Amino acid sequence: MDRKTIWSTCCTAAILALTGCNGGSDAAAPAVGPSTPTAAAPSLHAAPTPSTDPRTAEPSAAPLATVVVVSSTGDQEATMPDPITYPLQKVVKSDAEWRAQLTETQYRVARHEATEPPFDNEYNNNKRRGIYACIACGLPLYSSDKKYDSGTGWPSFWQEIDPRHIGTRKDWKLIYTRIELHCARCESHLGHVFEDGPEPTGLRHCINSASLKFIPADDQPDPKT
Ligand SMILES: [Zn+2]
Repeated sequence: MDRKTIWSTCCTAAILALTGCNGGSDAAAPAVGPSTPTAAAPSLHAAPTPSTDPRTAEPSAAPLATVVVVSSTGDQEATMPDPITYPLQKVVKSDAEWRAQLTETQYRVARHEATEPPFDNEYNNNKRRGIYACIACGLPLYSSDKKYDSGTGWPSFWQEIDPRHIGTRKDWKLIYTRIELHCARCESHLGHVFEDGPEPTGLRHCINSASLKFIPADDQPDPKT
């Protein structure tokens, strides 16, 4: 895969934003590449209907959701109890509160849709087993068993833990539209999704490390204790 092409289609405008450039970066936007999502992309993350997705069959007052990390051999290796109830209860804070809670980079990426540099971010090369949660509210978003090396320089996943945890909207920052991803609970910006990922989904969730908090499997609490 052509690294340069993916690079430019992923987050060029936002990188410029992070480094201090403004809307004028649109004029320097790269040509549309093969990873550009099609007009049909917005439906890829549409919430599944209750009748077809067993996960939505849970009662709305379900007291506990358990995220399971499964090894390549299929063995369950870790679980992370998380008191999540559905529908998700939104986490809403003021801009000043987010700024106080997050580092400068986390704040700019998660709350103002900047993008961190490729290859120079915390989790691009992270190969440990565990869960990637939202840096702002802690909602589990991705697991290591769905992470892969896309060569783009950003953590890439071919599937999220639960589609109810990821929100989408069209991003018009470049001369072509992209599908932006954000935390469904606190609206923190995560990255974008493209249709050049591996099977079985064919999707590439291109995510900023700064929007994630990695929870190693070995450090996760034992649900039996
Ligand atoms: Zn969140």
